[in-house]
Amino acid sequence: MDSKLISGKEVSAQIKAQVKEEVISLNNQGIYPKLSVIIVGENPASLTYVKGKHKDCAECGIISENIAMPETVSQGELLAEIERLNNDDSVHGILVQLPLPKHIDEYAVINAISAAKDVDGFTAVNVGNMNIGKDCFTPCTPQGCIDMLDYAGIDMTGKDVVVIGRSNIVGKPVAVLALQRSATVTICHSKTKNIAEKTRMADIVIVAVGRAGFLTGDMLKPGAVVIDVGINRNSEGKLCGDADFDSCIDVVSKITPVPGGVGLMTRANLLKNTIKSAKNCLK
Ligand code: NAP
Repeated sequence: MDSKLISGKEVSAQIKAQVKEEVISLNNQGIYPKLSVIIVGENPASLTYVKGKHKDCAECGIISENIAMPETVSQGELLAEIERLNNDDSVHGILVQLPLPKHIDEYAVINAISAAKDVDGFTAVNVGNMNIGKDCFTPCTPQGCIDMLDYAGIDMTGKDVVVIGRSNIVGKPVAVLALQRSATVTICHSKTKNIAEKTRMADIVIVAVGRAGFLTGDMLKPGAVVIDVGINRNSEGKLCGDADFDSCIDVVSKITPVPGGVGLMTRANLLKNTIKSAKNCLK
């Protein structure tokens, strides 16, 4: 079974090792990569994610700063903080943890981040540049999916890829990245008719729906590759993906586990993007 797993632990360890080396090299040139993370309120999941991001930075020698703002912060105050960070030359990456409280316009906040420091790759400028294949910060989770396929030696050229999910942070961008690798891409969503008919034709299925056990083995072609982006809790409260692992494992040639899969790649790519931004200072 192990030979079928694409391990996020392995791939992210490789990325982190490379990041560590690059940090040392940048430090030797007088550049100290720094990530500023803004968190608004005390959403438990967000607090956990942010803690993980700081831990990863510390592990790799990246300076990270936490800017905690109360749930009641005004949009103006938040925008002013972002502007301060945009103008601070010691800051290379700015990340605003989502979701934001309802009284704040997420689009306005994200797009206030300088595109040059947008290490999440969420600003309209970065999304646009990614879509036209220009240099940009690619969003961390979609890039993580592609990194895992690369690591497993899977060439996407000419492959039939089905993406299930069309969110702005996962489904759409991962479809664009797969297209850039010359895959033939189909995007499915909640209004798609007969998804199983489409997935059964796919060489690679990337599932990002947010429903435990959504993708079952009978929806796959034998030998298909499954990249499972979902992070859910099953009825026993255990972390699980969108793929029903037990029914998929006998059918697939490769699959990413949850936990220990794409989630770790998301974290690793944030580090990679922060280093990319810091390296831009050398240009
Ligand atoms: P989202 O914004 O809720 O989008 C879910 C997508 O799935 C939507 O496009 C929706 O279609 C589609 N969908 C929902 N039910 C469906 C159904 N029955 N049949 C077909 N499509 C259906 O979620 P997201 O932010 O993309 O996240 C998806 C999953 O990935 C979640 O479990 C999330 O926790 C996880 N995630 C993981 C990472 C990571 O680092 N591993 C990062 C981000 C997200 P419509 O557009 O038609 O509504």
